[in-house]
Amino acid sequence: MITRVGNGYDVHRLVSGRKLIIGGVDIPNDKGLLGHSDADVLLHAICDALLGAAGQGDIGKHFPDSDNRFRGISSLILLREVGSLVFSLGFYIGNIDAIIVAQHPKMAPHIMTMIDNISKSLQVNKSLINIKATTTEGLGFVGASEGIAAYAVCSLTSAETS
Ligand code: MG
Repeated sequence: MITRVGNGYDVHRLVSGRKLIIGGVDIPNDKGLLGHSDADVLLHAICDALLGAAGQGDIGKHFPDSDNRFRGISSLILLREVGSLVFSLGFYIGNIDAIIVAQHPKMAPHIMTMIDNISKSLQVNKSLINIKATTTEGLGFVGASEGIAAYAVCSLTSAETS
């Protein structure tokens, strides 16, 4: 059995007139994240971590923002597709650990729902998924509420020996 690790990072700009969707949760806020899809920064970071661990490039390669099929799409669907690809290659998810970096609103009330959404999308046990949140103490673009960032790491295991 081998273990592989992957990491993912994403940023989206906060703008008026968009919903704030993070981890598949519609979070009440005066601004939302701008993007071609629903701009779910957390799920994009997790997709990139999974793709990286599987050696399958990145989210832009699989779901290009030039493709109208992905306009406004729920990133839970993208995550499900990434999960299917990873499983079809013979990998199992060891764990996922992610951080949302946002000045506000508070993420804590929504984290259990995010974990629930991710576990359903990937069809894995909730115990394999950990989501954290932090602010930047008012520093930088996150601190100025110009955007929200997310980091993710994951491990995959496979029965391969090399
Ligand atoms: Mg993105």
